Amino acid sequence: MSKLDDIVSLCKRRGFIFPGSDVYGGFAGTWDFGPLGVTLKKKIMDEWWKFFVEDREDIYGIDAAILMNPKTWEASGHTATFADPLVECKECKSRFRADKIADGINESVTTEEFLATHTKCPVCGKENWGPIRKFNMMFLTHVGAVLPDDDKEVAEKNIAYLRPETAQGIFTNYKNVIDTIYPDLPFGLAQQGKAFRNEISPRDFILRDRECSQMEIEYFVNPNTWEENFETMRSLQHEFLENILELPKNKIHELEVPAEDRAHYSKRTIDFMFDYPNGEEELMGLAYRTDFDLSNIARESGKSMDYRDKKTNEVFIPHVIEPSIGVERLFLAVLSTAYSKDEINGEKRVFLKLPENLAPYKFCVSPLLKNKPELVEKAKEVYNLLRKKYSNVTWDDSGNIGKRYRKQDEIGTPKCIVIDFETLENDTITIRDRNTTEQIRKSISEL
Ligand SMILES: [Zn+2]
Repeated sequence: MSKLDDIVSLCKRRGFIFPGSDVYGGFAGTWDFGPLGVTLKKKIMDEWWKFFVEDREDIYGIDAAILMNPKTWEASGHTATFADPLVECKECKSRFRADKIADGINESVTTEEFLATHTKCPVCGKENWGPIRKFNMMFLTHVGAVLPDDDKEVAEKNIAYLRPETAQGIFTNYKNVIDTIYPDLPFGLAQQGKAFRNEISPRDFILRDRECSQMEIEYFVNPNTWEENFETMRSLQHEFLENILELPKNKIHELEVPAEDRAHYSKRTIDFMFDYPNGEEELMGLAYRTDFDLSNIARESGKSMDYRDKKTNEVFIPHVIEPSIGVERLFLAVLSTAYSKDEINGEKRVFLKLPENLAPYKFCVSPLLKNKPELVEKAKEVYNLLRKKYSNVTWDDSGNIGKRYRKQDEIGTPKCIVIDFETLENDTITIRDRNTTEQIRKSISEL
């Protein structure tokens, strides 16, 4: 089994991540977060919110609706260009994303270029392809009372999309924010929330899924200062990833995206790549989106997106620097960094070396023996004491102590506290460290 398979299996076994709709045999490209997974995910998202919004004076939060007026996607260019090259095998009718099954081509590949790669069908092995067609990745739905037998016109009038990015919910609220709180430039608007992309072939566990959570900031700047603000945002990302989430510096690689590979709205993009267990993959992106979005909104809505500088009275449409992170990608980076194996007294073990601020539980409390009421009672006392002080404390009295340690190691609990007979005599407990497995005695009052 590869390391990624090991992680997928641990995620299911310990309740971090389950396949979506598991009970019905799954649903491609969807994943469900279990009790431990949602805790870890939420901690990652909360750290981001604290770092970029709460601890800063220049970035404000918003939470926009997922369903947006379809004009949004006309203006943003998504209706026209948010598409992947789809190719169909004429033999077995399987459909693929062309640039993912052939080497040396990118998303803008033409039929001729694709055929010249002489790629064989990954399913049937034949080489008999139809033309490349553009497949729009937005999920289409209808709002309001539209019936399946309504004519096309009625249906089309009521089309809506599940948002493919959270960014547009920010851009469309730019004017509301200016009109209400009128912040000084540069200022940012941050949002966390779901985004949907109908991937042709979802794969790589939670790396390429059809429904994901994003954390995005649109940082509005004076166009003359975009370069210095780009650098500020760039170093802030490193600080967050390396200092707050403790991702190893040497696993993060910046990739300057060449013009032909950049999204249609970007004048400069750096992809932050990460060494995942199955190879280097994109972790997040930092893009200079210019005034692309605000100018499009101004044109489409007929409303001014101008900003008047409070000191100089200069009037302009701000430009935008956008750091954009997929939460699941970050989750897997954190998890695969934490995933560790070692051998203790000849016994192999797996443990998650999660940073303390991210571990689902800070402490696990247990009585040495489950069938000694005086130990259980004392342990409950310590458990309740710790729960009052720290919210994320778990209780475990299942199996023997060795099994409990192995379970807590696998879910990344940094400290296990055991109440034994000595506790009853002198109010001391043992604390076992997850990483070293070393145990020390401490008095309860020191906890
Ligand atoms: Zn085929």
